[in-house]
Amino acid sequence: MMEQISSKKVQATISCDNDRALEVCEHYSYVNAKTKHSDIVQSIIYVKKKLESILSYEKVMGHADTKKKKKYEDLTRLEQLNFQCDIIAKHSRKTFRPAAPDEMHYDGEHLSAWIGQDKIYSEVASQVKKYFIDNLADLELCRKYSWRQADFNRIAWDCIEKSSTMLTCSTNHYISKHVTGFLPIGRNMVRRSHWREDYCPRCKSGTETSSHLLQCNHADCLETFKKSTNTLDLWLIRQKTPDKLREEIIHFLGKWKTKQSCEPNSNLTSPMQAQMKFGWIHFVEGRPVKDFEIYMDNYYKTQAMRKTGKSWLASLIHKIWTVLHRPQWDNRNAHVHNHNEESEASRNTENLQNELQDLYTSELKENLLVRDQHLMEQSMERLLEEPDAYVKAWIEEMKVAVWERDQIFSADQKMESALMRGWMVKRKRNDSEDDASESKRNKNCPVSEE
Ligand SMILES: [Zn+2]
Repeated sequence: MMEQISSKKVQATISCDNDRALEVCEHYSYVNAKTKHSDIVQSIIYVKKKLESILSYEKVMGHADTKKKKKYEDLTRLEQLNFQCDIIAKHSRKTFRPAAPDEMHYDGEHLSAWIGQDKIYSEVASQVKKYFIDNLADLELCRKYSWRQADFNRIAWDCIEKSSTMLTCSTNHYISKHVTGFLPIGRNMVRRSHWREDYCPRCKSGTETSSHLLQCNHADCLETFKKSTNTLDLWLIRQKTPDKLREEIIHFLGKWKTKQSCEPNSNLTSPMQAQMKFGWIHFVEGRPVKDFEIYMDNYYKTQAMRKTGKSWLASLIHKIWTVLHRPQWDNRNAHVHNHNEESEASRNTENLQNELQDLYTSELKENLLVRDQHLMEQSMERLLEEPDAYVKAWIEEMKVAVWERDQIFSADQKMESALMRGWMVKRKRNDSEDDASESKRNKNCPVSEE
């Protein structure tokens, strides 16, 4: 039908028993492939664009809407057509579907993955993760930190997993980059050829590594770290952490920050001793030992509290990332971007000064129009000391002055050359007249000067 009216300008009505399909045909220029009957709707939209005809849209009370049974003769013409279409469609489905050979029927295959010797079809992501944690993570971490399997098992992995569910997407993203060594810190930025220097953007010394992020000596880093430990201290108090353990955690964080040695000693609480033997750095990096969980669980039980050691430790790991690490990363990034703004400004100043020096030449003053000569009253050295905005205004004004001078000069030049040409022509004519009279005279007087 659409094709038949394609070359004419007529009024046509598109009728359908589906409100949504009508709405899409009328207002949309594209239909999602998941929409019902998207193929028909998309072809109507496609043909519609090429038509000059005016289309209107009408809903038909069709087979889907007729609750009250009506006789076929009582239906409107459109309703009769809708009914007939429905019968034809149902008949076609019955006729053609069973005739199709089985091998033509292809359901497709769901997402699957090979893990070792097995192919899995369901819960692929969680199974891959489990396989990695069960079979590869320990090997990788044991290799990285020279652990034995027993060392790997001492870490409170359950609590780490629980804490990861509490993180926001952006912090999660930051942590995954931090632990895998993919943060865009100085060292990586140089490796990826984005930066020329790999020094720390805050203290401007050394190579910036992810461990430097927390141990930087810049005043901002120290201040942020101080605030972080205060926040962590308050949190530990609110969690009813035993004072001794709380003080030890805060004390050793401070020691680690100032790069003092963190050695175990017999006066410490049992989880702190275990962590010190294992390595304090792992605590700072959100990998505390299970001893904290056991210790806090027992403590809460003796205090008849309903809290658990597991939730305490999971929340502590969450705090390590969000209170200790993340503010340092944000602070460091603020330095990177402020530095860029500063260097952008200094680049602008340099460009302005170069432009000023190019414009400010000694012959310029003599050539300027009288009304613009005030621009050269200040010496170039004084102008260079002025703020950027002033220099910029001076340059703009000077450019206009030079342009106006050139315009007037070229007009003068044109006039001058016209005068000159006129004079030259006249002169030539006079000369030729002079020559003629001379030769006449010469003819009259045969005796030459020779
Ligand atoms: Zn630094």
